[in-house]
Formats: sequence, C-alpha cells, structure tokens
Amino acid sequence: MNYSLPGLSKHIRVVISGGADGIGRTIAETFLAQQVQTAIFDISESAVAEYRKRYPHSMAAVVDVADARQVEAFFRQVANKLDGIDILINNVGIAGPTAAVEDISPADWERTLAVNLNGMFYCLRNAVPLLKAAGGGAVINIASSAAFFGYPLRSPYAASKWAAIGLTKTLAMELGPFNIRVNAICPGSVNGPRIQRVIEKEASVRKVMPENVRDIYLRQVSLRTFVDAEDVANTILFLCSDLGKNISGQALGVDGHTETLSNG
Ligand code: NAD
Repeated sequence: MNYSLPGLSKHIRVVISGGADGIGRTIAETFLAQQVQTAIFDISESAVAEYRKRYPHSMAAVVDVADARQVEAFFRQVANKLDGIDILINNVGIAGPTAAVEDISPADWERTLAVNLNGMFYCLRNAVPLLKAAGGGAVINIASSAAFFGYPLRSPYAASKWAAIGLTKTLAMELGPFNIRVNAICPGSVNGPRIQRVIEKEASVRKVMPENVRDIYLRQVSLRTFVDAEDVANTILFLCSDLGKNISGQALGVDGHTETLSNG
C-alpha cells in the first residue's frame, strides 16, 4: 500500500548507499513512490545498470563505499545535481566471514570494518555539511539485531554493527542542535537471497543442515518470523517523515523481537 507521509515530497532529496539491490533498492523504491528525489550508489556495475534502466530519473553511480575518494566525488556530484540533500540512508553492509575468530584473516576482518563502519563515516562526513546547509534533516544507519547481542562466528560483523550504534548515539548528540536526527534501524533476518547465503555458510561451518540453522534463527525470534525488506523501508519512511520529527538517537529493531543470537 502506498501511504503519503507528511514532510516527504518532491522537494526532499535522499541518498542511499548500496541502493541498487537488496534492502537498499527497496528503500529507494519506497522513497521514489513518495516522489522524493532519490540518489543511490552501489559497488555492483550490473546492479547499477539495471537500476538505471528501471529508474532513469533517479541518480545512480558505481561507488565502493570503502573508498573515501570515490564517496567524496559522489557527494560532490549529488550536491551539484540535486543542490544538496535532506536525508542520508547508510545502508551498505556486508556479512563478512563466518568463522571462529582465530580462523578469520586480517584481510577479511579489515574489509568488513572498512565497508560497514568506515563507509558509514565516509558518507557522513560528506553528507553532514549538506544536511546542515539544508537547515536540518535525517540520517538512518542500518545496523542489525547483531548490534544488540553477541553473535558467535560473526565477530567482525557484530563488532561493526555495535559500532554503528555508537556512531548513531554520538552523532544524534552532535547534530541534534542543527535539527538533524540520527537513528539506527536494526533489521532481523530479512527474507531474500542474502539470509539464505548466511544460513548456508553457517550450516557448513557448523556441519549441520541449512534447515537446522534456519529453524534456530526462527526460534530466536519471539514472533517466529523473518522480516521483509518492505518492513525496514516503511519504518525508515516513518522516521524520515514529520511523523518521526521528535525521534533521534534510537536503535530500533525491525525484527519480530530477536531474543538472542546465541545459535544454541
Ligand atoms: P546485500 O548484500 O543484498 O547488498 C545490498 C547492496 O549493497 C548490493 O547492491 C551490493 O552490491 C551493495 N554493496 C555491497 N558492498 C558495497 C560497497 N563496498 N560499496 C557500495 N555498495 C556495496 O545486503 P542487504 O541484505 O540488502 O543488507 C543491507 C543492510 O541491511 C546491510 O547493512 C546489512 O548488514 C543489513 N542487514 C541485513 C540483513 C539481512 O538479513 N539481509 C539483516 C540485518 C541487517
């Protein structure tokens, strides 16, 4: 269903990292349905080409979020084309390795933190001056229910998502006086190909069947369900609209209430 939300209109400009596929694309589509001007970037050339075909009026570029220079160049382009921004959605995040900590290579550890944490910082340092110039706005950092619990075999991912909450709380304080709200969304397992890959990897490391891992993941959630990308996108829309105008510094689970990630 397509609701029309106060404060979101064709005058509003949003940037979404990793917006060409997965949850990011659903977020982009949800904003586009509100007539919001939407600019995305993504590391995948094929996904960006496909996105451009579907949404020729939405700005789209191939950028690796872990490359500070590429991110800076992208935001320069956005500032020129859209004359600023009002909303930043820090969506990119990779799953990283599934392994015991002693089996994780420094390269895998560093890449996970570079994409999930440094990438968030690179977007923020370029977006914040534009948000301040616009007189205020909203930032959403996509974390995970892994930001609330220990997550065995996924240490770099969990560490990066806990860091995203630290960044969210800190920047809500720094930027609140500039009328910029900063919140984190913490999705649980989201229906789609990525969670299937996560489950298969974990099953192979634990030497069990993927169905066993899926069953454990479901039993860890009070509502016994995975969520949809649309649940995440609609919550973001609410927070970025005037309905969420006094909400900042929060880490909000969209996860059917995850009770633990202990995998037991
Ligand atoms: P995904 O793996 O489907 O990737 C989404 C997009 O990000 C893809 O188009 C991909 O090409 C792009 N991307 C990957 N690395 C990039 C980089 N270095 N630079 C720019 N773009 C890059 O991910 P998703 O499942 O859509 O997850 C989106 C966010 O939600 C992530 O932060 C993830 O950690 C979080 N999350 C996902 C789940 C889930 O079950 N899928 C659960 C909790 C949290």
